[in-house]
Amino acid sequence: MTDDVLSIGGEEIHLGERRQLALTVAKLYDFTDMKMPVEVVRGTTKGPVMFVSAAIHGDEINGVDIVRRLLKHRALKQICGTLIAIPIVNVFGFNDKSRYLPDRRDLNRSFPGAEHGSLASQVAYIFRTEIVNKCTHGIDLHTGAIHRTNLPQIRADLTNAANLMLAKSFGVPVILNASPRDGSLREMVNDKRIPMLLYEAGTALRFDKRAALLGVEGILNVMRSIGMLPPLLHSMKPPKPFIAKSSQWVRAPISGIFVTRKKLGEPVMKDEKIGFITNPFGDYEYAILSPTNGVIIGNSILPLANEGDGLYHIATFEAGEEVSNEELYPYINPDLTV
Ligand SMILES: [Zn+2]
Repeated sequence: MTDDVLSIGGEEIHLGERRQLALTVAKLYDFTDMKMPVEVVRGTTKGPVMFVSAAIHGDEINGVDIVRRLLKHRALKQICGTLIAIPIVNVFGFNDKSRYLPDRRDLNRSFPGAEHGSLASQVAYIFRTEIVNKCTHGIDLHTGAIHRTNLPQIRADLTNAANLMLAKSFGVPVILNASPRDGSLREMVNDKRIPMLLYEAGTALRFDKRAALLGVEGILNVMRSIGMLPPLLHSMKPPKPFIAKSSQWVRAPISGIFVTRKKLGEPVMKDEKIGFITNPFGDYEYAILSPTNGVIIGNSILPLANEGDGLYHIATFEAGEEVSNEELYPYINPDLTV
């Protein structure tokens, strides 16, 4: 819960106000300022303060589309508490269509950051001090890396009960229990005991409308669950989520042309042939077998593979928890498979 006045970037935003800000993150070579766009939406009553951030990896632009759609949503007229939307955190990477910063560092390995550190560290510091430190909850939006796509999924440290509650309320079918990586935003936020989710969906440098709509609805669902929005009068029961205890990558056994037999979101059985690597003549095939029962939550969309490249990301569930094609089918995106 916050005070009546919220201060970000030296500006004061009062209850009932909606304001766009631009946080200066650094100067460019020509001395012009590089700014991070922020929109603050405050209800007339105090309540939770939630950040929704996108493009911490500058080329993961589907989250930018999610924030754009969220900010236009009429539900925000009824907000209680405060939404802080940051459509582009890594403004350098976004403008360069790159995951990284010009110093070649990964912003999501640079938290908590330092005021006078590397460029990535400075951006992390500004995001921490101006945004995260003012928030009670957070959602960070990502996509698969370039040439890879992800099934809409939530990743969170589920040992924190508040994270589990938020994850279930989001309303996508797969929740992956993932401990945060060193230097990530999620690690820093977890250390502060602020509940936070990471939404992964789609691929880098592309908009995926369905993944965006699921993301917007998920964010609104979370806001409803913590009292930032009134409950829906006729709400559909969210799908029962499958909570993945772990996941593993299936890598290319040899270099060659990659042909898949499975779509993103499809269940797989241990030792099932899920694809193969072939040569340009097509007279040789090296079968790729699934190492486990599970569901494909990410896959390569590049039909060329070097030995060792990640081809499938498979989530595994508790023994006896069956995941059927029908339950996940609405989330399978035929356009984004090889
Ligand atoms: Zn990412």
